[in-house]
Amino acid sequence: MIQKRLFLSVLMLLTLSTGLALAAPNTELQSLSLEFIHDKQGNLSIDDVINKKIQPIPNQHSLGVNFDTVWYKVTITGSTQKTQFYLHNKLAYLSEQINIYELIDKRQIVKTSYDFLESNIANKLTGSTLVYPFSISPNKTKIIFIKNKALVHQLIDIDIYQEQQSIQALINKNFFSNFIISCLFALALYNAMMFFYNKRREFLIYAFYLLNAAVGLSYLYGTVFHNFNIYGHKVYWLNITAILVSLFLALFVQAVFETHRNSRRLHFIFNAVITVAFIDLVIAIFIDLPFAIDVVGIIFLCSFFAICYLAVHFYKKKHPLIKIFVLAYSFYVAGIIIILSCLMGFIPYNAFTFHASGMGILIEAVLFSYLLNFRMILLEKKVIKLVDVKKNLEFIADHDHLTNILNRRAFMNQAEAAISLAKRYNEPLSFIMIDLDLFKKVNDKYGHHTGDVVLTLFSETVSNLIRNEDIFGRIGGEEFSIIVPRLTKQKAFIVAEKLRKAIANKDISTESYQFQQTISIGLSTLTSNDKTLFDIQKRADEALYEAKSNGRNQVVFK
Ligand code: GH3
Ligand code: MG
Ligand code: MG
Repeated sequence: MIQKRLFLSVLMLLTLSTGLALAAPNTELQSLSLEFIHDKQGNLSIDDVINKKIQPIPNQHSLGVNFDTVWYKVTITGSTQKTQFYLHNKLAYLSEQINIYELIDKRQIVKTSYDFLESNIANKLTGSTLVYPFSISPNKTKIIFIKNKALVHQLIDIDIYQEQQSIQALINKNFFSNFIISCLFALALYNAMMFFYNKRREFLIYAFYLLNAAVGLSYLYGTVFHNFNIYGHKVYWLNITAILVSLFLALFVQAVFETHRNSRRLHFIFNAVITVAFIDLVIAIFIDLPFAIDVVGIIFLCSFFAICYLAVHFYKKKHPLIKIFVLAYSFYVAGIIIILSCLMGFIPYNAFTFHASGMGILIEAVLFSYLLNFRMILLEKKVIKLVDVKKNLEFIADHDHLTNILNRRAFMNQAEAAISLAKRYNEPLSFIMIDLDLFKKVNDKYGHHTGDVVLTLFSETVSNLIRNEDIFGRIGGEEFSIIVPRLTKQKAFIVAEKLRKAIANKDISTESYQFQQTISIGLSTLTSNDKTLFDIQKRADEALYEAKSNGRNQVVFK
């Protein structure tokens, strides 16, 4: 089962890599190079920058959070024929302001501004991408400066395309991100439906967790900007999904591992994480959003240490879900560490590092969904086991341990019910009372064990001869009773005689002895005067006494 799911995960990874391959850019330029200059005060002019010394960087790059405003110099050498090109600034949606300066010749500079706080910014962009068209004379070089004021993170990802490739790149752009986000939304929906089906709250918590992860990734990958044309500070608040993800993860862990029942200390630790996340959420909504977003890392770390502690605790206890949980969570943590390092500029920005969190969360999501279902199977098995135990206990409570027929209490209950039914429908009912003859002698002569064998043999013989609806019970010692519903006196007498003969004709033998056991039977039938079981029982008892007095091994009716 686990292997099957892991295989599916691997298959999914392969699909993701195909997505990456599809999204790879393709240009037919002779060369494209990128350099940058840090505008510390944000007050440099294009003339300052043209004359300043400038550093080369790759055209996909993350400078982290300490570079508020940066000028990028893009140098493009054209092909032999084509003249029309399109510059794609793919991460434009992560900027607050972008100015593009195109150097037409040494004197003429064309400036285009993109202010992400302006309401008409959507008209200037193509989804989340800033597309800047320009032309180059064959075999000439073009210089474009991009002044980028970042919202938070200083990232650059540009490419130059010809017209057809430009369109294709725009179509392909969100393929990979959309794939991840759609999978997460689908899983969120699936888990929400599971909640409505089985009413277990961990499914609902998990659905919310996935929903927040999906929305958070939509922000990071530009899907929100691409599809809804909202930019900059207007959607910055979507970062609260990062707080909510930590909050729902802690709730999820509490529910899955039932910390309230399994470990008071762990439950307390996760309650603390939830409280901190909740306070941060309140700060984000009512007080200071950027501050609240800045401390998300602390909540993530608290949550990480709490989960490490939980992992060790349940690993020692050999919890059946702990390994799959740790595996799933590792993908999530790895993804988060990679994307944070990328955004902070510690590791290179590329398609893999940028999409690492998405892939990590997606793999985690698939494994967690598996974990939830596996947990349901374990719970069902537990319930089935409990039902078996309950049935077993009920059987023990109602049956005699030696003969496995009804004990006195259960017999009385069923007999009362049968009698009231017979009275309500005015149907006949007979009562057979049996006592083994001179049984004490059997014990004395052959031993108590042989006595037990005789009792068992007697019960088996009678059980095989009576009908399913007859109620047969051991009243005590070597005394038994049978309720035979719907049988009149005559028919019940025939049954009683049949039982008496069957027992009397049975040889009880081993290598060392051989004997026959007889029984005496008292018989009575229900009359309209009988009010309770006691009335009919009393007459059968008197009949049995008479049978004993008359010499035993006989049936007497009263
Ligand atoms: P009677 O024909 O008058 O009924 O004579 P009896 O010997 O059968 O009657 P009595 O009541 O004197 O003896 C019943 C015996 O049944 C006594 C007791 O040791 C035995 N007995 C009761 N329960 C069990 C049991 O579970 N196993 C065995 N081996 N003997 C039992
Ligand atoms: Mg007796
Ligand atoms: Mg007896």
